Amino acid sequence: MAKLTLDQMASFTKSRGFVYPSSEIYGGFAAVYDYGHYGILLKKNIESMWFKSMVQDRDDVYALDSGIFMHPLTWKASGHLDSFNDVLIEDKVTHKRFRADHLIEEYFEKKGEKVDMDKKSPEEMTKIIIENKILSPDGNELTAPRNFSLMIKTNLGVTDGSFSDENAVYPRAETCQGIYLDYKAVMDSLRPKLPFGIAQIGKAFRNEIVARQFIFRTREFEQMEMQYFLHPSEMDSKYEEWKQYRHKWFIEMGIPEDKIRFKEHTKLAHYASKAFDLEYNFDILGGFKEVEGIHARGDWDLSQHQKFSGVDLTYFDQERNEKYLPNIMETSVGLNRLFLMFLDNAYTEEEVNGEKRIVLKLDKRLAPVKISILPLSKKEPLSTIAHEIKNTLRKTFFVEYDETQSIGKRYRRADEIGTPYCITVDFETVNDKKVTVRDRDSMKQDRVEIDKLEEYFKGKF
Ligand code: ATP
Repeated sequence: MAKLTLDQMASFTKSRGFVYPSSEIYGGFAAVYDYGHYGILLKKNIESMWFKSMVQDRDDVYALDSGIFMHPLTWKASGHLDSFNDVLIEDKVTHKRFRADHLIEEYFEKKGEKVDMDKKSPEEMTKIIIENKILSPDGNELTAPRNFSLMIKTNLGVTDGSFSDENAVYPRAETCQGIYLDYKAVMDSLRPKLPFGIAQIGKAFRNEIVARQFIFRTREFEQMEMQYFLHPSEMDSKYEEWKQYRHKWFIEMGIPEDKIRFKEHTKLAHYASKAFDLEYNFDILGGFKEVEGIHARGDWDLSQHQKFSGVDLTYFDQERNEKYLPNIMETSVGLNRLFLMFLDNAYTEEEVNGEKRIVLKLDKRLAPVKISILPLSKKEPLSTIAHEIKNTLRKTFFVEYDETQSIGKRYRRADEIGTPYCITVDFETVNDKKVTVRDRDSMKQDRVEIDKLEEYFKGKF
């Protein structure tokens, strides 16, 4: 198992059609990435496995797709306009920017010490930097740490091209606000009983200070969030249930138990009662990093939106004969971070007959292409037989047809994008109406009748 650096992973995914840097012909555009053919297929599969687990498999979660733009008061009510900040620090010479908490953490990590930077203010960070004489990674002095808003500000509907603060709107910095705003519409239309959840997948935008971590941290990214509305007395039990439910999902999707762990937040936002992150041990990032947050948020969100909108958001609980503002707990995971996590976990280098083989050992359900069909020759009758197999199987599976270059090279291409099965149509096929099916991981080969292929693969997926 070879370890890649983040740059090597970026170049691997680019060359195999997964992820491209944005605007490359203009010299690139920091912290934005485009997804190519195989990237989209992988992303869609991750999304649909999350959606299946969070919505399809449950009776108590509804789906939503709210707008990226919301009424600007949303962000005043949520507290984002006042306090959705990271602490920025700059190298006085190179003007390179850093997140102060990360810079301090790395400084102590290098000394083999741990430091807790959860929710530290710029003043507290200044003190730590002065006391420890911390310099930039290039050995230069640092500017004083200061708050830096992660909200992106723009104008909609301004006709003269100027920017006005009065008309400021904000592409959402998190998808969950759309869920809070539509909570009443969901209640009025679907009439769910508490406890229940609303789940959505969509883009979020943050003016991140540092954008040097490939798709781990980008300024435009996708979140998959579920907000669960409940009676305050149920918070502890439901929180624990969801924590375990989400952990199980990672294991079921092929993440080894020892590569995923919970980290409890030591300092909580004033409205929160519990916060755990699910962390994955990234080879390419050299350690455990957050992929998902699971937070108990009390009634903060609905009470703020009730206050700012003037609309009653309370719930009348018939069973309890009680009217109250539901409490909320959320599970919030980054789709792009999961994408990187699955690639990190799947990327494998092996030696086969003295040659290096790169293979993505992705869970079959996540693999972009399920079956690759490889006729040994472009000529008839192999070509017609192979096309017929393709047309039959594509009704059920995402298949690919590949007839260029040697069979060895074609196997390699399929392995590198994680295709679980390859079908070779050879000259013997003409006589025995059978094909060879090769398994990506074991490389074992089965001889299977063409007529039985569909059944064969249904048993495999
Ligand atoms: P971090 O501490 O890494 O900045 P966060 O705690 O601010 O993350 P949340 O606001 O809890 O993140 O968002 C939930 C999830 O969304 C994160 O666990 C992560 O997977 C994803 N996420 C957050 N910011 C980004 C980003 N800039 N790029 C990609 N994914 C992100």
